[in-house]
Amino acid sequence: MRNAHPGLPELDYVKPGSLEEASKFLAAHAGESRPFLGGTDCIVRIRDGAWKPKYLVDVKGLEGTTGISFDPAKGLTIGAAVPMNKVAAHPDVQKHYPLLVEACNWVASYQLRSRATIVGNVCNASPAGDTIGAAICLDGVLNVFGPDGYRKEPLTTFFFGPGKTALKPGDIATSIFFPLPPKESAGKYLKLGRNRLGDLAIVGVTAFAYKDASVASGYRFRIALASVGPTPIRPTAAEEILAKSIDESAVEAAAQAAMDSCTPIDDTRGTARYRKLMIRNLTRQAVSAVLAQLKK
Ligand SMILES: Cc1cc2nc3c(=O)[nH]c(=O)nc-3n(C[C@H](O)[C@H](O)[C@H](O)COP(=O)(O)OP(=O)(O)OC[C@H]3O[C@@H](n4cnc5c(N)ncnc54)[C@H](O)[C@@H]3O)c2cc1C
Repeated sequence: MRNAHPGLPELDYVKPGSLEEASKFLAAHAGESRPFLGGTDCIVRIRDGAWKPKYLVDVKGLEGTTGISFDPAKGLTIGAAVPMNKVAAHPDVQKHYPLLVEACNWVASYQLRSRATIVGNVCNASPAGDTIGAAICLDGVLNVFGPDGYRKEPLTTFFFGPGKTALKPGDIATSIFFPLPPKESAGKYLKLGRNRLGDLAIVGVTAFAYKDASVASGYRFRIALASVGPTPIRPTAAEEILAKSIDESAVEAAAQAAMDSCTPIDDTRGTARYRKLMIRNLTRQAVSAVLAQLKK
């Protein structure tokens, strides 16, 4: 019988002393090196033979990758190497970005979240990544150091396909920034997995909204769908419906529009048809939950 988990092959662990050194090394060894943080994606993919890097480059602890800082005038910066448990336990994150806390807490188990990072989740670019929807809805921007120095990568244009992003050889995401959420905002993440612990999403729906007197309904929505296409999906047609009205039939129409925007596949977790129907259900539920919070 084939061994599904052949074990870790031999590879070199590289610990650079600076961002410049790390970036130069990664650029010089494009295609045979990989940066890593918690390693919870990297080590599993290497163990299973899906990735075969010669070098694993540990970027934890490099400049800007540690710590969480909150500026009440600007927003929140989370170092790339900060594990999800630390993010979820941080008082400023809990107070101003509860959607991020909720999304982190949906990832696998407490044990895994003591290693796994939001930046690793984002850079891994799995359509099933649980924190990606919240990061998109909260207008997240990656701070990246690359061969040409620092630049910003907004998440709205970051994802190209499973594992494919705007990052190039030599790029290191050092942190993720979230601007201050609009006043009177609320969010909800709903994940459907085969079990509560340690399974990837069959589908996931993130809904975030804030009061906005400039639109007819008085509410502006941002929605992100997980596991129903090669990249996270922002169903803008659904968002536009909710900007016009939030009555029951509008919520139903938005849920239908979210379903229509998906291009899921059949796999071991669920069929494409099941995923589409679940997107409609969870979008209806998530939007209703957000409205209930905002009307309190
Ligand atoms: C048992 C188990 C259960 C899991 N359950 C879930 C789940 O429920 N939900 C979920 O979303 N995920 C899940 N995952 C996947 C994984 O834990 C997450 O994607 C996690 O957030 C990855 O973070 P990390 O820091 O470990 O990333 P790493 O493994 O270190 O890196 C992930 C990817 O990002 C790249 N990368 C890392 N650091 C940088 C950087 N600084 N700059 C540029 N690129 C970088 C790496 O090269 C790699 O491609 C699970 C994994 C395991 C092993």
